[in-house]
Amino acid sequence: MPTALPTQQGIDPAASTTPRPRVDVTPQLSDRTVAWLANHPHARRLVRSVWDTLAELERAGQYPAPIDALRRVLTYHQPTATGRCCTCRRWTGRRHRFPCIVWHQIRGELLGLFNPAKTPSG
Ligand SMILES: [Zn+2]
Repeated sequence: MPTALPTQQGIDPAASTTPRPRVDVTPQLSDRTVAWLANHPHARRLVRSVWDTLAELERAGQYPAPIDALRRVLTYHQPTATGRCCTCRRWTGRRHRFPCIVWHQIRGELLGLFNPAKTPSG
């Protein structure tokens, strides 16, 4: 016998279909990161590919809240003056080169590098 779903009593039906309010400020890379990237072309290419892909998804109207969440996570993983990820060190106690595994993982997922079925040619 199917169980009843939770009731919607006391919940405004219009409110339940209203999208969540967006965060007013789009997460951005710091000025220090932008300056650091200017001297590190390999890292700049990777960061740009991730950032541009997120912007393309946003322009296409794809899931703005998760895109903001990804950007926010990425802004935690910015380089120190010596080119190490400032957040990964806190988690692992080891210095990780920027772009760290978080940037590589998100890039791979966005571009379908970890799942050949997602690639445009496959
Ligand atoms: Zn990191």
